[in-house]
Amino acid sequence: MTDLATDVDAVNDVEDLESFRSRLRAWLKDNMPAEVPRTAVRGALSDEEELADVQRNRDLQRKLYDGGFAGIVFPKEYGGAGLTPAHQAVFNSEIVGYQFPDRTQVPTFTPCAAVILEFGTEEQKRQHLPAIMKGEEIWMQMLSEPGSGSDVAGATTTAVRDGEMWVVNGSKIWTTGAWWSDWALALVRTNWDVPKHRGMSVFMVKIHQPGIEVNRIEMLNGAMEFCQEFMTDLHIPDSDRIGEVDAGWTVGTKWMYYEKSFNISPFITRPAGRSTEGGGSSHSPVAVARRTGRLEDPVVRQLIGESHSLSLVNKEAGARIGRAISGGHFNTQAAGLARILGGVTATQLATLNFELAGAAGVVWDEDDEELGALGVNFLVRQSSQIGGGTTEMSRNVVSERFLGMPSEARNDRDMAFRDVPRGGRR
Ligand SMILES: Cc1cc2nc3c(=O)[nH]c(=O)nc-3n(C[C@H](O)[C@H](O)[C@H](O)COP(=O)(O)OP(=O)(O)OC[C@H]3O[C@@H](n4cnc5c(N)ncnc54)[C@H](O)[C@@H]3O)c2cc1C
Repeated sequence: MTDLATDVDAVNDVEDLESFRSRLRAWLKDNMPAEVPRTAVRGALSDEEELADVQRNRDLQRKLYDGGFAGIVFPKEYGGAGLTPAHQAVFNSEIVGYQFPDRTQVPTFTPCAAVILEFGTEEQKRQHLPAIMKGEEIWMQMLSEPGSGSDVAGATTTAVRDGEMWVVNGSKIWTTGAWWSDWALALVRTNWDVPKHRGMSVFMVKIHQPGIEVNRIEMLNGAMEFCQEFMTDLHIPDSDRIGEVDAGWTVGTKWMYYEKSFNISPFITRPAGRSTEGGGSSHSPVAVARRTGRLEDPVVRQLIGESHSLSLVNKEAGARIGRAISGGHFNTQAAGLARILGGVTATQLATLNFELAGAAGVVWDEDDEELGALGVNFLVRQSSQIGGGTTEMSRNVVSERFLGMPSEARNDRDMAFRDVPRGGRR
């Protein structure tokens, strides 16, 4: 785990939590706008509206930076607040009810900034981390390819060295938000003559530049956030490589840990209990039942109870897994447990909300898109079990690397990557 300010000496040097809380509370009241319930069906935003929303997020991130509250656990020399995960937890509980820059959190702060902090050179950290804290750089992840998603190490996008530059050719896919983002971490092949996990490297890639064509893909909910990038003789300087040549799997393993553990991550700002508790969220089950006038219906009340129990179990189990990992009681592979729980819970909550919305989740008036959004969300409910690596793959990881059960058979483990049968070739 990255060297966060968690040891006792460091904690003693930082502001105590209660003083932090009252300073933060006053600052939020004076500076951050109140949360506005989202009324538009996701995917119904025009490109102009989407870009305006991205800019709003950048501005909010900048506000946090100017107030000294950006990147709570990131070191001060890189623009962070130099505080602890406990301060981040306080922040998350106090930001409830305010707008916050959700588009700059995942995957910008984690896994991307977390990876740069852990594996980047001093120069790379100074170039990118302050820009991330200020909302000037939004990052995405280029892992999946048309022929390799779960098998990330099967990537065929290839970088060939040419002096101080690398020339990259290939394609990445399902890159969420690439069209409105600035940079990406990319895992690419740099050696075909060694087994697949030993011939990859990680690069920082400026998304909008000659050599990359970004195409958009429409999702079932109408959103056009997914992108596929085609890289043709893309030139990347060697100074943008993170970690050693061909040792990308070392960086990649930690990268994917940060990705899977975003639910329990100290690197991101996320209102505590967001969209899972009764409080202010307009999509809370109680609010949805009230909107449809069915709050007194016993069946509806049962659904609300189910929804609350799921949220509570997810939240408390996630926190417990996080504590067990940071306390050294569980190995980091246990993050897969939180990933499974979070993914399955999100799918189930989307289903329950759809049931609660009733007919308004299927057919809605233009002035009541909020309930319609629950219907559209139901269509893509499975995505929370796919994005960030599927829950099936996490089950494999948990059983093999956390519970110590026998591994799946892997025939390509010791074979040079160029000899691995692919795409029907034998
Ligand atoms: C909302 C969302 C956002 C995403 N954002 C990004 C992004 O920003 N960047 C990015 O690079 N990718 C992104 N992805 C892609 C995502 O990481 C992949 O879709 C995912 O890893 C699965 O890969 P695949 O689609 O190629 O499916 P496949 O790997 O072809 O898998 C198909 C099915 O087979 C199962 N399966 C495959 N291998 C095994 C195995 N060994 N054991 C058990 N089951 C197995 C899978 O679980 C799945 O159910 C996103 C996906 C979604 C849905």
